Amino acid sequence: MSVFMEDLDAFTYRERLASGNRLVIVPVGSVEQHGPHLPLTTDVMLARAMSARLAKAVGGLVAAPILYGYKSQQRSGGGNHLGGTTSLDATTMISIARTLTHEFARHGAERLVFVNGHFENYQFLYEGVELATAELSSRGRSSTSQRLEAMLLSYWDFVDQGTIDEIYAGSFPGWDVEHGGVLETSLMLHLHPELVDLSRVMDLPPADLPRYDLLPVRSELTPASGCLSSAARASEGAGQLLMERTTAALARAVEDAFALERNNVALVATSS
Ligand SMILES: [Zn+2]
Repeated sequence: MSVFMEDLDAFTYRERLASGNRLVIVPVGSVEQHGPHLPLTTDVMLARAMSARLAKAVGGLVAAPILYGYKSQQRSGGGNHLGGTTSLDATTMISIARTLTHEFARHGAERLVFVNGHFENYQFLYEGVELATAELSSRGRSSTSQRLEAMLLSYWDFVDQGTIDEIYAGSFPGWDVEHGGVLETSLMLHLHPELVDLSRVMDLPPADLPRYDLLPVRSELTPASGCLSSAARASEGAGQLLMERTTAALARAVEDAFALERNNVALVATSS
């Protein structure tokens, strides 16, 4: 049985939402260049795959994703000047998060989880969800309906140090420059190998960017690949490990945050 909202008719969607734990997971991505070897919608594909595994583990539905994201920044995504990168401004991003929170509350969701896959989105998602939950709470003072709690996270924060050591063997460049690098490329090799072209990886040293932003950007500061670190060490095996451990950690966090029963942890058990 599919966990994806896009696969369900409205009647089934309403039944599943009402009969389950009223949890909706919203994947959030971007349309952003990821170098010559990964597709533009890598972030949303990864967030959606994580969301699906999470939904199966904790019981819940995966909303149609927020496909576009906030502007790519030079120090975390290569920059918004690059062709292919197609971004929303902050007010649009905030508005989408706020509107969707209200929409899922209207459907009867009581728990929302935003699974972010694009570094730059986070604070604008936070703002939109904060505004909506405050509005719902103040409405809730006169009515018991539309009680909703939301959780926000970026999936890479659930990759533990042991996994980082195992995969990067001392060469971890930091999450901000993990753009089109080992993490995303390995996950894509595991999930969508047909969309990855390893022969096109540009094996360049990690980007050496200043500790400040310059606007307009100086395009020469972004490596020629558009990636901020090399994907040369990426592998399908690393992707599988990342997927299993990250979604297991995500599931535990969601269960803890919402005091859900740990019903099927085996589904995302790691091989170790
Ligand atoms: Zn990405």
